[in-house]
Amino acid sequence: MIIGHKKQWEILIKSKNYQAFLFSGQESLGKKKIAIEFAKFLRCQGKQKPCDQCSECLEIEKKISSDFVLVEPEQDIKINEIREIKRKMFLSTNSFKIAIIDKAHLMTKDSQNCFLKILEEPHKNTIFVLITEHPDLLLPTILSRVQQIKFFPVSKTEIQQQISEQEIIEYSLNQPGKALSLTLEKIKEYKNIINRLEKIKNYNIGDRFLEAKKISQENLSEIFFIWLCYLRKTFLEQCKNKKNYADTKKNIKNLQTISSLLGRTNVNKKLATELLLLELK
Ligand SMILES: [Zn+2]
Repeated sequence: MIIGHKKQWEILIKSKNYQAFLFSGQESLGKKKIAIEFAKFLRCQGKQKPCDQCSECLEIEKKISSDFVLVEPEQDIKINEIREIKRKMFLSTNSFKIAIIDKAHLMTKDSQNCFLKILEEPHKNTIFVLITEHPDLLLPTILSRVQQIKFFPVSKTEIQQQISEQEIIEYSLNQPGKALSLTLEKIKEYKNIINRLEKIKNYNIGDRFLEAKKISQENLSEIFFIWLCYLRKTFLEQCKNKKNYADTKKNIKNLQTISSLLGRTNVNKKLATELLLLELK
């Protein structure tokens, strides 16, 4: 399923004679998803391409197709990996081969030079898709040999056309990549996290200390992020309805301070959470 990015998709499926593409744009827009759908489109044997049912589509989805390479690096992409991609891509068969390199900016200088050589000796039926939020970190000589396709945040209406659950849209922050990974299960979890915040407001000091101990052992950054989203939304509603927003504003400020401390310093998690929960109104 593709959400938004209609223009980009049209350019891709109508493109001819292109050997390499560069998908650029911020994170979580669904660039990798589109690249995988494009790989299916090129190899699909169904009538409506990609059909998501034929063996080619399924093999790509499961990442077991021998004509499909997907690099999802955690760290620098070394030259050996690029050589391996080259070997797989240039094995002689007549069928289309597609290689997707996510986070292409993680290619080292040597890797980029090696990749450039691949682009310089075009090979029939091979397509490369580079994906990056930082195209400026790629060699100009690579940039000049690829067709660049830019991706932008998708509107809520476009997301809504595909996903009906209002809450998924609310939590996706206009990033389709995020909307797709957000399940209703996850949203239930988010709601529990929000309920927890509301409950703490009625706790006595002792219970607040106990809760702080518990929370500090969980996924703090996720919990704080969700609380922040929720408090911001509450704040906007209170402003709009001319209600008293002083407490919410104070809570947001404290949460921002503690989150930033946790992100930048080695501050004790339990202590920081205690400070936050004691002040919560
Ligand atoms: Zn298919």
